[in-house]
Amino acid sequence: MHSEACEALKRQGYQFFTPTSSAALKPCMWNKRALRGGEMCYKHRFYGIESHRCIQMTPTLRCNQRCLFCWRSFEHEVTEEEECPPEVILASVKRLQKKALSGYKVSSYVEPERFSEALDPNMVAISLSGEPTCYSALPELIDRFRDGGYTTFLVSNGTRPDVLARCRPTQVYISLDAPDRETYLRICRPRRDYWERIGESLALLGSRRSAIRITLVEGENDFAPDRYAAMIQDSGASFVEVKGYMHLGYSRYRLERDQMPLHDRVRAFADLIAEHCDYAIRDESPVSRVVCLEQRP
Ligand code: SF4
Repeated sequence: MHSEACEALKRQGYQFFTPTSSAALKPCMWNKRALRGGEMCYKHRFYGIESHRCIQMTPTLRCNQRCLFCWRSFEHEVTEEEECPPEVILASVKRLQKKALSGYKVSSYVEPERFSEALDPNMVAISLSGEPTCYSALPELIDRFRDGGYTTFLVSNGTRPDVLARCRPTQVYISLDAPDRETYLRICRPRRDYWERIGESLALLGSRRSAIRITLVEGENDFAPDRYAAMIQDSGASFVEVKGYMHLGYSRYRLERDQMPLHDRVRAFADLIAEHCDYAIRDESPVSRVVCLEQRP
């Protein structure tokens, strides 16, 4: 892995599983907030996930897209690596999470009971950065997490339906960031045109606990709610999350701050989608600018 990129990520709090792979974890902001007894992330509100017991990780930082809204750098992309085997990830995941949270133990804001709960994580969100389906042993890794007693959320860009078909996470997310092929190619900038493959991935969702995630970028993909609705309807996904783009990380060099939609705009777009399909608003989190829709029974 590119050492410069690796050092920059370490400074941002990434913990790497091995020196030669890009498999990494990093506790998210909500994990730390929950540790201090503060608010939990919207996944707690929507799905009952306890943020302080959640590990945010990825088995690889490689990706086959270069989305405008992505917070990672495209300057030092990981193209080659020695993949970290699933058994190594399982064997070190709690130790690395503990290392990442070690500074919090001494804080007077953190209750000892909550801290010891955080050291016994029960949820893995495979969603840190990179595209997890680019990791060759993803199905096995997810099975091992499940056998180890973890709930697993897998977030994928949907470009590798053949891999997704073999994965059995508790909940799978597929990103749908465009209502049509042309917009997809402009915003997600894939290595090849994977639009058809995303359709194939969406078709896998109806038989599983699943969610479609739409990252709404003002002036880029916030149009044609009826077309989004048609694709959602065809997929049969359990949930849809319409989420506002956040002006963070390296995306700040590609997009403007005012392309972050306010929550009212996200809600209005979700309402328009709901008007065109059999999904209804289930919940929303204004602080995270996300609205959750659920398939009507
Ligand atoms: S698919 Fe995900 S990791 Fe890859 S460029 Fe897009 S947002 Fe970033």
